[in-house]
Amino acid sequence: MHIDLHTHSTASDGTDTPAELMRNAAAAGLDVVALTDHDSVRGHAEAIASLPEGLTLVTGAELSCRMDGVGLHMLAYLFDPDEPELARERELVRDDRVPRAQTMVRKLQALGVPVEWEQVARIAGDGSVGRPHIATALVELGVVETVSDAFTPEWLANGGRAYAEKHELDPFEAIRLVKAAGGVTVFAHPLAVKRGEVVPEASMARFAAAGLDGIEVDHMDHDESTRARLRGLAKELGLLATGSSDYHGRRKTVRLGEYTTDPEIYGEITRRATGAFPVPGAGGPRPA
Ligand code: AMP
Ligand code: FE
Ligand code: FE
Ligand code: ZN
Repeated sequence: MHIDLHTHSTASDGTDTPAELMRNAAAAGLDVVALTDHDSVRGHAEAIASLPEGLTLVTGAELSCRMDGVGLHMLAYLFDPDEPELARERELVRDDRVPRAQTMVRKLQALGVPVEWEQVARIAGDGSVGRPHIATALVELGVVETVSDAFTPEWLANGGRAYAEKHELDPFEAIRLVKAAGGVTVFAHPLAVKRGEVVPEASMARFAAAGLDGIEVDHMDHDESTRARLRGLAKELGLLATGSSDYHGRRKTVRLGEYTTDPEIYGEITRRATGAFPVPGAGGPRPA
């Protein structure tokens, strides 16, 4: 079983449409894929409608959180997408991405970069707009060579010259809301240092006590020693240890299924969830 529990589509900052993502996941040999767009479930319907036979979809989202000024991401799986409290919070975060991205565009303009909001809006389409879209605009303008190159203090990194904050959830509130909606939470790439600041390791115990289910251990932004440390921490705190690609299509170099989750861990996630069930692929759209 090949299980990849963290991917992004054009519903946020990935470059595959949900339908393309499902096709590519099957072609990559995955048996299970989770669609976890930033602060959005808008890609779910299209993904479900285009699921190839043999591929199971885990519906989810990656919730933007902030604690003591440090940004972090909570993966949420198999929650009820219609549960009103979580839906409202998701929308607040997603909607605030627009004025926030416009602020970053203005900061870039003040730095002499000829970027326009219309360009960023075109790149983002109807996906929740984020820094990778602005970074793509900077690539188009020849300001940087790759999307990753825009994530520096000079440009869009946390606290960088053109960075702006967005509304984000308190992680304890996120854990509570997801649980109340029948879902399971996994702390995404907890020690991805290259993204900037990370929350202190001691907060993992507090998250665990608040009902966190797991932590993402195998991720491209964790080196070997970090993974070993996280695996030990998961064991100590009774948390599920997952692995995932965090695929973003052309906006990152990682491949679908490059990192995967153990089938037993996946089984435990599905047993704990009550808000939604994994969707088995029935073979995609049938000829009329
Ligand atoms: P935002 O949600 O708008 O604050 O942007 C955060 C997103 O930027 C993350 O979800 C990643 O997709 C992307 N990102 C963060 N750091 C990097 C990096 N160093 N290289 C490429 N993409 C990154
Ligand atoms: Fe992203
Ligand atoms: Fe993330
Ligand atoms: Zn992600």
